Amino acid sequence: MVASLALAMEGPPVDPEEVLHRVFGHAGFRGRQAEIVHHVMDGGSGLVLMPTGGGKSLCFQVPALCREGLGVVVSPLIALMEDQVAALRQQGVAAAALHSDLDEDVAREVRRDLARGALKLLYVSPERLLLDSTQQRLHEQRLALFAIDEAHCVSQWGHHFRPEYRALTALAERFPGVPRLALTATADQRTVEDIRQQLGLEDAPVFRGGFDRPNIFISSAPRESERGQLREFVKAASDGSGAGIVYCGSRAKTESTAEWLRADGHDALCFHAGMEAEAKRAAHHRFARGDNVIMAATIAFGMGIDRPDVRWVAHLDLPRSPESWYQEIGRAGRDGLPARALLMYGAGDIALARHRIEESPAADDQKRIERMRLDAMVSIAEAATCRRRILLRCFGEDGPENCGACDVCRTPPRLWDGTVAAQKLLSAVLRTGRRFGVAHIVDVLRGRMTDKVAQFAHDKLPTYGVGKDLPDATWRGVARQLVAMGALDVAVENHGELVPTDSARPILKGEQKVLLREDLTSARPAAKDRGARTAVPSGDALFEALRTWRRAESSRQGLPAYMIFSDATLVAITEAKPDDEGELSLIPGVGRSKLERYAEDVLRVVAEHA
Ligand code: ADP
Ligand code: ZN
Repeated sequence: MVASLALAMEGPPVDPEEVLHRVFGHAGFRGRQAEIVHHVMDGGSGLVLMPTGGGKSLCFQVPALCREGLGVVVSPLIALMEDQVAALRQQGVAAAALHSDLDEDVAREVRRDLARGALKLLYVSPERLLLDSTQQRLHEQRLALFAIDEAHCVSQWGHHFRPEYRALTALAERFPGVPRLALTATADQRTVEDIRQQLGLEDAPVFRGGFDRPNIFISSAPRESERGQLREFVKAASDGSGAGIVYCGSRAKTESTAEWLRADGHDALCFHAGMEAEAKRAAHHRFARGDNVIMAATIAFGMGIDRPDVRWVAHLDLPRSPESWYQEIGRAGRDGLPARALLMYGAGDIALARHRIEESPAADDQKRIERMRLDAMVSIAEAATCRRRILLRCFGEDGPENCGACDVCRTPPRLWDGTVAAQKLLSAVLRTGRRFGVAHIVDVLRGRMTDKVAQFAHDKLPTYGVGKDLPDATWRGVARQLVAMGALDVAVENHGELVPTDSARPILKGEQKVLLREDLTSARPAAKDRGARTAVPSGDALFEALRTWRRAESSRQGLPAYMIFSDATLVAITEAKPDDEGELSLIPGVGRSKLERYAEDVLRVVAEHA
């Protein structure tokens, strides 16, 4: 039943460019893909580091199709395997998956196809791969390559360690001569070294792709009214068919956020590690297929998000490192169309993350690195210069001075000398006895006679009312920035009281100037005006008609819409208005198999609307 093109079942290797074009419908390789593909074609092993959406899959899919024998892909997640296999079959590739979740009938069929050499790509979980029976079957085959996807799972260093991945160490020995290509979006040096060592790739080259994802517009804002900010962002960022992800700092928050979004009229679900396996699977499934669907999730929702048309990713809480943040926002815009990321955070997040590091049982060495990561994350959030540039530096890359696709480049924040304001705020904190949170401190500074002010006689303090000249939001910004620079701490585990640190002393004594950034959250125009172009030409009659056709076709086949054609492909069709199969075949994303399946329908829709 496996659809199959007669690809390199036997005979000499096929030309990779030709396969790229004929099977995947792409005009050319991107970035370092060509180099990697040729390296593997020549029998080489290696490690590929590319951001999410960078195009890692083709690096092993193309050589697997070109080389003789079977390509074996190790993948940590069943949902991910199933999606990739379905997408490959749409493209006419004989692909299958073996994992613990298969019906026995299906598993038997896969084994039979495998035995008769009818498969070109086999996706397999690490547990399955290492079963004796699987190993035996593979030994009877000619193997084109092993691809180890999400290779950072082999490293204990990262946050995604999978003990089963450790056993992959044996591959080098058991299958000498078969190229091993490990792939990951994690660029962290320790993880990279770990992967190379564990997978016996010490002598193999590391291919580091460019880490920039220029189609993702990135922005960050202090949390003022979380839901209001999220609502505006979603409105500006959605395109009517793609998906969005809201990352939340806690499980409970994913649930309340999804609930709120539903009440606000969205199709929203939640996902976190505490859910039953079945509920998780269902959520994954719905997210993969839904039009305009929103997932409120913890960072447990990550691997296995293969849909290329995630239009936006919002973080309601500060991520722990630039690496994790980039991995999370990298899930947006894999189709290359404009996408957006919004990061919201507050002083409490920064303090909480710092406390967690200090209290963790980790070794000092690791704590030091965690501290550095967090500081880098804070400097991105608080950036007064191009955010993308700061972000890319974390990956060892020099971005442009001004990326033009972040909020700072679009609307550079004004800087002001906040030394006096910082002194006033710190002194109000000290004089009130370090026992109050930011709200009360702002009341004192603004000279507001609240019950609390009266109760503690804070109107008698010399700092009472000295901050009338600045609005509340500015004062909160001053406090937050002092926290960010480490002059203030927030007792988050307690009642959120502000506590000056040693670094506050030189500021109070006037020995240190404080340069502050003007927060423009409220004054700033809605995200809509700041975004890149609209994602897709929604409203265009042809585009909408193609989308309607795609929706019908995808539900007929029970597949996610993007597997029929991506948005990028529909946009290109809308623009090119092809008259015949020849013209249609030139559109990116239209390979031979899809041409056979859909040309007639698509050309009809175009003819009706052109
Ligand atoms: P990764 O696995 O690195 O996250 P994918 O392999 O899923 O990324 O690729 C991301 C997107 O980029 C996919 O939609 C894929 O079709 C597209 N893509 C990858 N390589 C090319 C290419 N050479 N030309 C056009 N599109 C590409
Ligand atoms: Zn920028």
